[in-house]
Amino acid sequence: MPHDHTILGAGLAGLSAGYTLAKGGRSVHLLEKEEYVGGLAASFEKDGYTFDLGPHRFHTRNQRVHDQVVELLGENIHWRDRLSRIFMLGKFFNYPLNATNIVTSLPPWLLFRSFVDYFAVRIRNRIHPIPDDCFQNWILKRFGKTLYRLFFGTYTEKAWGIPCTQISADWASQRITLLNLMDTVKKTLFRPKNVPRTLVSKFFYPLDGGIGTIGERYAEEILAAGANGVDTGVDVKRVRWEGNRILSVDVTQDGEERSIEVNHLISTVPVTTMIDLFDPAPPEEVLQSRRSLRYKAIVFVFLALDREKVTDDHWIYLPEQHLKVHRISEFKNFSERCAPPGKTLVAAEITCNHDDHVWNMGKDELTDLAAGDLETIGLLKKDEVVASFIHRERYSYPLYDLTYREHVKACLDWQKRFENFEATGRQGLFQYGNMDHSLAMGLVLGERLLKKTDAAHDEILDSEEHVD
Ligand SMILES: Cc1cc2nc3c(=O)[nH]c(=O)nc-3n(C[C@H](O)[C@H](O)[C@H](O)COP(=O)(O)OP(=O)(O)OC[C@H]3O[C@@H](n4cnc5c(N)ncnc54)[C@H](O)[C@@H]3O)c2cc1C
Repeated sequence: MPHDHTILGAGLAGLSAGYTLAKGGRSVHLLEKEEYVGGLAASFEKDGYTFDLGPHRFHTRNQRVHDQVVELLGENIHWRDRLSRIFMLGKFFNYPLNATNIVTSLPPWLLFRSFVDYFAVRIRNRIHPIPDDCFQNWILKRFGKTLYRLFFGTYTEKAWGIPCTQISADWASQRITLLNLMDTVKKTLFRPKNVPRTLVSKFFYPLDGGIGTIGERYAEEILAAGANGVDTGVDVKRVRWEGNRILSVDVTQDGEERSIEVNHLISTVPVTTMIDLFDPAPPEEVLQSRRSLRYKAIVFVFLALDREKVTDDHWIYLPEQHLKVHRISEFKNFSERCAPPGKTLVAAEITCNHDDHVWNMGKDELTDLAAGDLETIGLLKKDEVVASFIHRERYSYPLYDLTYREHVKACLDWQKRFENFEATGRQGLFQYGNMDHSLAMGLVLGERLLKKTDAAHDEILDSEEHVD
């Protein structure tokens, strides 16, 4: 007997959908390609270290998601005060931008130019409105040229690997919380004492096990809820369909091929992967749209040191082009228990494209590159690094270029022909969301399938704030 719902991917979206459906009395079967659950929000244990795929700070404005995660983590939770900064011009600047810090840290001439540019662009925008037609214009219009280059343009071009004129304004509008410089100044100057500057200045994190504990707890509850399955190490080869129904999923597991009959299929795998899996293949125009969609990859270089700590920051952005690493994070600042006493582990992230030069670099070369960048900014000496681990993540960021919307729509619209199929999550919908968004998508989709709500799981991201 097939399960009521077969779910591709055991990241947070798939796990949350599975959990909601299982609690609602349905049987679910999750098929995960990797040997672990949690997807991008998984954690790993090695040599006494616990680490995540870069910094993962959980926060949400969705009370139900918040309560659910708190309940699942139980005692294994503690609250953290966020510290994240940007390193540039040889100094650290608070992030999100803080007017006091900008005023005291920027050289006076640069500060003067920032304000002149800011007021110039405000006036110019009144006479000739600047369209919000790309990331560059969106920021320029609100911050002016100097702050754009200093805090946004350089970093974004480095992380995305394409000019900011080719990046959609969606990315900025969804992610930048402080909309203009005056807002930044007002929030800094007129904030009552002892009130957090933003809602996300505090966050909770598991005391033990890293952020991946959240996904693991969902998986445990799914298995405890009945005749359900969470299978890892499953390679999905094809998804067979006929007319308006999905029929089965062909997989390889432990070297054996099998076909799984499907009642209803939920996909949380990248939309590009999903389009490739359909057998027969979708029409050529859909395949063309699929080929236009790209995900940015990240190579994570984890550096182990015999030192208590390197910094107090949860993470630090490195926007300057002469450094290859674009962000670092230190897990001990998330939980003391992420590293043994007297030792620490730092993650250095380098964005790249799948299969490019950086992606194919060997461990020694990557370690040398990352440690070299950290030495350049004065955080450590290369010869302090006692061990390193590498992790390559192909589907890290859906790339919001200028045409992504129409191509995502073409793929998702074609998938809507199936009466027993839904796509959701960051990858399945090609939406640049956070952990809580994926959890909320799974929750709402599950409740919709249980007929408890008419809410749309694919509109959750609109007007929400992003962090990663
Ligand atoms: C570097 C980085 C830092 C981040 N920091 C934060 C943060 O601070 N706060 C925050 O809230 N969010 C953060 N995020 C975002 C967060 O990790 C994701 O939004 C969330 O984990 C996505 O969950 P998902 O289930 O939608 O997708 P995924 O986690 O990508 O899950 C998809 C799953 O599908 C599986 N899969 C893929 N192909 C197949 C296949 N063919 N067959 C079967 N399974 C398959 C994958 O292995 C994966 O497990 C960060 C992301 C990154 C990359």
